[in-house]
Amino acid sequence: MAYTATIKDEKKEIARLYKAMLHDTYQTLSKEDISLIRKAFEFAADAHKGQRRKSGEPYIYHPIAVATIVANEIGLDTDSIAAALLHDVIEDTDYTFIDIEQLFGATIAKIVNGLTKISRLKKDKDISIQAENFRKMLLTLNDDVRVILIKIADRYHNMQTLQSMREDKQVKIASETLFIYAPLAHRLGLYDIKTELENLGLKYTEPEVYYDILNKIKQSKTEREKYIDEFSKSIEKSLEDEGFEYQIKGRTKSIYSIRKKMRSQGVSFDEVYDKFAIRIVYSSSIKEEKFNAWKIYSIVTDHYNPNPNRLRDWITQPKSTGYESLHTTVMGPQGKWVEVQIRSKRMNEIAEKGYAAHFKYKHGNINESGLESWLNKLKDTLENPDINAIDFVEQFKLNLYAKEIYVFTPQGDIKSLPKGATPIDFAYLIHTEVGNHCRGAKVNGKLVHLNYVLLSGDQVEIITSASQKPKLAWLDMVKTARAKSRIKSVLKEEHVLVAAEGKEILARKLRHLKISFDEKSVNELVNFFKLKTSFDLFFRVGNGSIENSQLKKYASQRSNAFVNFFKNRIKRGVKRELGTQVNEVTSNYDLLVFGQNDEKLNYSYTKCCSPIPGDKVFGFTTVSEGIKVHKFDCPNAVSLQSQYAYRILPAKWVDSTQSGFKATFNIIGIDDVGLINNVTKIISDNHNVNIKKLNIASDEGYFQGKITIEVKNNQQIIKLLQQIKKIEGIEKVERITK
Ligand code: MN
Repeated sequence: MAYTATIKDEKKEIARLYKAMLHDTYQTLSKEDISLIRKAFEFAADAHKGQRRKSGEPYIYHPIAVATIVANEIGLDTDSIAAALLHDVIEDTDYTFIDIEQLFGATIAKIVNGLTKISRLKKDKDISIQAENFRKMLLTLNDDVRVILIKIADRYHNMQTLQSMREDKQVKIASETLFIYAPLAHRLGLYDIKTELENLGLKYTEPEVYYDILNKIKQSKTEREKYIDEFSKSIEKSLEDEGFEYQIKGRTKSIYSIRKKMRSQGVSFDEVYDKFAIRIVYSSSIKEEKFNAWKIYSIVTDHYNPNPNRLRDWITQPKSTGYESLHTTVMGPQGKWVEVQIRSKRMNEIAEKGYAAHFKYKHGNINESGLESWLNKLKDTLENPDINAIDFVEQFKLNLYAKEIYVFTPQGDIKSLPKGATPIDFAYLIHTEVGNHCRGAKVNGKLVHLNYVLLSGDQVEIITSASQKPKLAWLDMVKTARAKSRIKSVLKEEHVLVAAEGKEILARKLRHLKISFDEKSVNELVNFFKLKTSFDLFFRVGNGSIENSQLKKYASQRSNAFVNFFKNRIKRGVKRELGTQVNEVTSNYDLLVFGQNDEKLNYSYTKCCSPIPGDKVFGFTTVSEGIKVHKFDCPNAVSLQSQYAYRILPAKWVDSTQSGFKATFNIIGIDDVGLINNVTKIISDNHNVNIKKLNIASDEGYFQGKITIEVKNNQQIIKLLQQIKKIEGIEKVERITK
């Protein structure tokens, strides 16, 4: 549509937009506030005079619109509104930072300057430069979080007016919005804006999908309204009897999240069962609001059965964004599950406005530390120079969406961690040094593995030891960006990362040589290069001392070995007894172990696919013949896996000369951290002995532990028992036989 407004129309429109902006501010403005905003408006209008947007409209429409979002939807203060009006002045006109500072003071000038810096970041195609720029942008959080909030408003308006951009630019801006700005808005508690950014992002990146879902939502509108009506009517009387002043609304899931669900669960629009939620917003004094939430919960569940697994109490323990609400899912009218969100007006404001609402209610009973501590953590990570920018962005995004759990320190302080976090994450949250020397952890008084997944409510105590150091495997155990970056920087010093990188390079190179990267080939390579361990191999590939030509040499020797192997097989008439091992190629991997604990079980090979050692295989539990081993690509594999998944056992080839026996000890002694350390130290000082399981419970000065170890022979067990008996504080050690 061509732009046709006259100058006179435009002047009227500018005045109207400005008035509307002021009319709807979230915060109450004083006379001084209004005159400062007026000054910023007039200055910006003059500075941008004659400039036009791509759509043909006067440029000033844009700063006014951004200021409207800032003032009304985000609900920020006067300085932010003025800065929003001025946000493009330094970038797009002849005025400078000094001009703004002189006219509007240091605070506003600093915010405008921060916004100018962001828009000057080079929009590069190179992902690593983009990531570095993103990091720089986030560094402005250090100065003033309002910079990012206004930037989000700026992006939001640009997304709303994206249709006048060129198509390739539309896609680029929309992708960037989905990549960075929507997660950021989410983390800052701006849920509504986040939803809009996602929807708009989808509209330009996948228009067909977007319009398809949009139409379907429209079509189901009447049905949805009827449902909500039915629900409301059923609880109306009970709510009124209790004297509640409330509003019930139906909230449709956003187009973007419906699409996400359809994709992740592979279902159609109709099969997404929780397309909308019911929200009950009630009036309450702050003192009574939690009590009232549960009263409403009680009324709702008097009428409809709740799903006990879907109760979320964000009131007692708000999210770190400050979000508070009580969520439950009930079996609603027509036998359909529906989520019910119960929240006070104040909680609703926080859900909509996030940051700004926090300030408004600063003196209420809100746990305000969430956002602040998140910002501090972020600042910490940003300032760590060891971490590469792409990693950082990836980790940052993980943290943005991570669901939270709450755990306690031994002193009873509450700490928040992302869902899936382990004691190592917790250790790093307490202090870098605690993390770096984390040797073990007790959860609720019990010793756990370091990869134990913490649950809300756990009380965590970290056992440290000066000699402990971060390990490569820890990287797979941790969830937080903080722990990851700390571990990486220690590992970097220790060359472990070189080996980790070498491992990836090797996998890639072998793929080019059409050799699968597995225990077998790694073992062959270790022998080929006359090395001791796979670590040596990976490290050498990582630092470049093993070259391509050498790998090719290995590959050609290997294919000869294969030819010989098959020739031998044919010579022997391929009559292989079930269960016999064929040793030509896989001399070191000749025994199968099963399940997660690498158990040794009796097994036999099947005739349908005749696996040989080194093949990718799985075990299948039969009714009468024990475990049968099939190849992964066996013609029967798919039907077995799909019909009898519960009878499938993962299987792994091991070197039978290297594998040991399991032995379990029962240890009783005086409860003392040093004691546990001494026991584990003795075990780990004995070569070839591995701790498989460690379970220690302590109670009133006593501890009782069960340790399962793997040893090569009986002699080692006897030696260990003698050594452990000598430790001070040990009462009794005995081997348990089952
Ligand atoms: Mn702008």
